[in-house]
Parts: sequence; structure tokens; C-alpha cells
Amino acid sequence: MTDCLFCKIASGGIPSKQAYSDERVYAFHDIAPKAPTHILVVPRQHIAKLSEAQREDEGLIGELVGRAAAIARELGLDHYRLVLNNGEEAGQSVFHLHFHLMGGRTFKWPPG
Ligand code: 5GP
Ligand code: ZN
Repeated sequence: MTDCLFCKIASGGIPSKQAYSDERVYAFHDIAPKAPTHILVVPRQHIAKLSEAQREDEGLIGELVGRAAAIARELGLDHYRLVLNNGEEAGQSVFHLHFHLMGGRTFKWPPG
């Protein structure tokens, strides 16, 4: 999608600090980190939010989760939080599906 921030970041049109890249998945450091490690893991394919994902997207979404775990492992994080905000009232501000991989501090439960 041409006017989507994360499509532009994933395609290199807007610069970001890359954490991982392949044909389907792009991961980069959040511009306003909420934890010492705060990485966003996104599909290159534009999906606005989880509730709009189709059955055929499930493999890709599983890949994002697996990739987040692999990035965490590579960074030596064994305590981390993987967050997906779906919809404005749940805290989603960029409407291109993404997981937040956050680590390096203690987290409270439940999240606000
Ligand atoms: P959401 O609120 O949609 O779950 O998460 C969007 C995240 O994207 C926020 O944590 C925000 O800091 C991050 N973000 C917004 N704009 C940019 C940007 O231009 N570059 C990067 N690296 N992160 C961004
Ligand atoms: Zn997009």
C-alpha cells in the first residue's frame, strides 16, 4: 500500500534501523522505544490489522512470531514481551500489522 508507513519502511523508502530482513519479513528498531530492546516485526505484505487477516495469512503470521523468537534468542533475551495491538482502542497507531518485541526490563501485568 503506497501511503502506509510500514510498507514504506519495509521497502526501504523510509530509513529504519534494521534488525532482520528476508523476502517476507522485515524487523526494525522502534523510533520511540518503550524498553531497552524494542523491535517491530512486520510482514512485507500489507495487512492492516490482525482482525483483517485471512486464513491464507496464518502461515505468514506464524512466521512473524517465530522470527521474533529467533531475534530475541540472537539478542540473548530470555525474558521478553511480544505484543500485537489490534485496533485504535487497543493502542494500534500504525495500521500495518506488527508485533512489538520488547525486552531488557521488567514488565507489569496486566498491561494498561
Ligand atoms: P502501534 O501503536 O501501532 O502498536 O505501534 C506503532 C509503533 O511504531 C510505535 O511504537 C511507534 O513508536 C513506532 N513508529 C511510528 N513511526 C515510526 C517510524 O517512522 N519509524 C520507526 N522505526 N518506528 C515508528
Ligand atoms: Zn502497509
